[in-house]
Amino acid sequence: MKMPKIINTHCPSCRRHTEHTVEKVKKGQPSPFTRIVRQKQRQQGIGNAGKFSKVPGGDKPTKRVYLRYRCKECGKAHQREGFRVKRFELV
Ligand SMILES: [Zn+2]
Repeated sequence: MKMPKIINTHCPSCRRHTEHTVEKVKKGQPSPFTRIVRQKQRQQGIGNAGKFSKVPGGDKPTKRVYLRYRCKECGKAHQREGFRVKRFELV
C-alpha cells in the first residue's frame, strides 16, 4: 500500500482537522531486564534449554505496520492501531 507523507486528519489536542506528517514507528527491542530475558539467561549452560529450546514457528505472511501522526500545528504526535499489509510505502 502507498501512503502519502502528509495527510489531513483529526488532531486530538487541537480538536479539529489539521495537516499531519506520517512517520513509521520503529520496532523497539525488549528491555534486558524483563523477566523472560533473565529467565532465558539463567537457562543458558549445560543441558536442555526447556521452553527456550523451541524452534520459532513460521512467520505470518504480512506484518503489522504502526504509524505515528504528527500534527503540523501543535507538533504533538498520536498513534492509531496498526494494520496488516504486505508492502508499505510512504510517498
Ligand atoms: Zn494539533
